[in-house]
Amino acid sequence: MRIVITGAAGFLGSHLTDRFLAEGHEVVGVDNFLTGSRDNIAHLADNPRFQFIAHDVSKYITVDGPVGGVLHFASPASPIDYLQHPIPTLKVGSLGTHNALGLAKAKGARFLLASTSEVYGDPQVHPQPETYWGHVNPVGPRGVYDEAKRFAEAMTMAYHRVHGVPTRIVRIFNTYGPRMRAHDGRVVSNLVVQALLGRPLTIYGDGSQTRSFCYASDLVDGIYRLFWSERVDPTNIGNPVEFTVLELAKLVREMLHVTAPIQHDPLPVDDPKVRRPDITIARSVLGWEPVVDLRHGLERTIAYFRTVLPK
Ligand code: NAD
Ligand code: UDP
Repeated sequence: MRIVITGAAGFLGSHLTDRFLAEGHEVVGVDNFLTGSRDNIAHLADNPRFQFIAHDVSKYITVDGPVGGVLHFASPASPIDYLQHPIPTLKVGSLGTHNALGLAKAKGARFLLASTSEVYGDPQVHPQPETYWGHVNPVGPRGVYDEAKRFAEAMTMAYHRVHGVPTRIVRIFNTYGPRMRAHDGRVVSNLVVQALLGRPLTIYGDGSQTRSFCYASDLVDGIYRLFWSERVDPTNIGNPVEFTVLELAKLVREMLHVTAPIQHDPLPVDDPKVRRPDITIARSVLGWEPVVDLRHGLERTIAYFRTVLPK
């Protein structure tokens, strides 16, 4: 099948591209490099089944020829990125999703939206099942991301109901692994890079807030299964093992045998206090669950950052 992946030069989009190519499909990657990198797709330059279009998907998307699937991954994803690019984030979640859905409709293609656990906001139900409607501050700084993704979900369901587009929605929980940028700003990359460079490890607030970290290959496998499934309603994909941010920092220090101090910085506005996916549906409908635990995922992530950081 010929698949269009928006955000293909990003962390997750590039891994997803690799997976579809490895399964024998053709991939057309579309990206404007807002937060992505040519390095993430450089290894595909000579692959005849990969085509790349440099384009902002918040503007009309033109792809010649047949398309069987559209996976919409374009969007800043790290809090520091969407706080730095609030309007492009709102546009790619709204106009970009509309354009990607329009492409799928015109081509008779299946569509998958990369949504997020942020649609649950600072959750009052824990762990979060797909039936939870969330607790989001629409006018706070994070609202630009959360509300764009909530709009994107609504638009996706409307295209399914009105136009009959076969749509899928994945709600992705914190995912980490190779190809995150060193200065990406998310907690795993920050702590690993700080430890490798012998700098203090930054913890926002007291570090008691929790996240559940999923390794990239596990996530991509869940998304691949969801894409081929018949499930239209949103589906959580993430690792249900929950850690405090302080526990994560201590694990990183232990694994890298460093004694770098912990530096407590202010907690960002509206930072969710807890987050953990209920993956009952992914388990039962997709037969999926993560297989890479945090320690093994961190080993691979540390090995990656060792290759990209200055010696
Ligand atoms: P990323 O920043 O590495 O990748 C996003 C990619 O989208 C980048 O290559 C960027 O250049 C591109 N992009 C942004 N705006 C664009 C536009 N208007 N036109 C074309 N390309 C554009 O982030 P990521 O972690 O790979 O996230 C990918 C997707 O997964 C995002 O939609 C994000 O919301 C979602 N997601 C990720 C996580 C996670 O933990 N990594 C969690 C929840 C949801
Ligand atoms: N965080 C931290 N130190 C950092 C970066 C992030 O303590 O250097 C915290 C952040 O406040 C949040 C958690 O780690 O509570 C996860 O942050 P991240 O940016 O990775 O993703 P989020 O889940 O907030 O979207």
